[in-house]
Amino acid sequence: MTEPAPAPSAPTTRPARLTVLSGPTAVGKGTIMAELRRRSPELWISVSATTREPRPGEVDGVHYHFLTGERFDALVEAGEMLEWAVVHGRNRYGTPRGPVDRMLAAGRPVFLEVDLQGARQVRGAMPEAQLVFLAPPSWEELVHRLVGRGTEGPEERERRLATAREELRAVPEFDHVVVNDDVGRATDELMALMGL
Ligand code: 5GP
Repeated sequence: MTEPAPAPSAPTTRPARLTVLSGPTAVGKGTIMAELRRRSPELWISVSATTREPRPGEVDGVHYHFLTGERFDALVEAGEMLEWAVVHGRNRYGTPRGPVDRMLAAGRPVFLEVDLQGARQVRGAMPEAQLVFLAPPSWEELVHRLVGRGTEGPEERERRLATAREELRAVPEFDHVVVNDDVGRATDELMALMGL
C-alpha cells in the first residue's frame, strides 16, 4: 500500500485577500477609504473606471479613470472588467481586472469599493473575496448625512435613497457588517477584518 501524499505545508505568509466594501450613498465610504489609505500603505485600493463626468478636484487615474461610454464598452467587450454596473440608474462604473489580478499575484491585500451589483459579481467571479457592508447607524442618520453634504438636488437624493433601501435589504448577503458610527472605530474594525 502506498502512503498518502503528505499535505502541502502551510504557506509561511498570510494569503492575500480581496476585500469588497459596499454601502449606501452618504454612509461615509469616501472618508473611510481616505483613512485606510492614510493608515495602511500596504493596502492596494483599486481605481474604478466610470463614464460619469469628473467633479471639481477629481483627478483622472487617481479618483477614477474617466472614460467615454465607447471606451468603457470596449473594455467590457474585451473582458477587461472584473465587474461593472450602472449605478443610481445613470452612469457605468467598473473595476479594471488587470491591476487587481497583478496585485493579488504579488501578495498585496486588495480593496474594492463597488455598489451592490458589483459586489455580487465579484462574489461570483472570486468566491474567496470577503464582502463587507458599511452601514449607517440608522436610516434617519443616513438621510441626515445625505442632506447635510448638499451635493445632490432633491431629485438625485430621492434616486440615491431608493437605491439605498434596496442595498440595505441585501445586508444578509455580506460576510460582515461594519457600522459607520465613528470613522476611526469603523476603520479599526475594517482593518482588523483585513488582517492589517
Ligand atoms: P460616485 O459617483 O459618488 O463617485 O459613486 C457612486 C457609487 O458608484 C459609489 O458609491 C459606488 O457604490 C459605486 N462605484 C464606484 N466604483 C465602482 C465600481 O468600480 N464598480 C461598481 N459596480 N460600482 C462602483
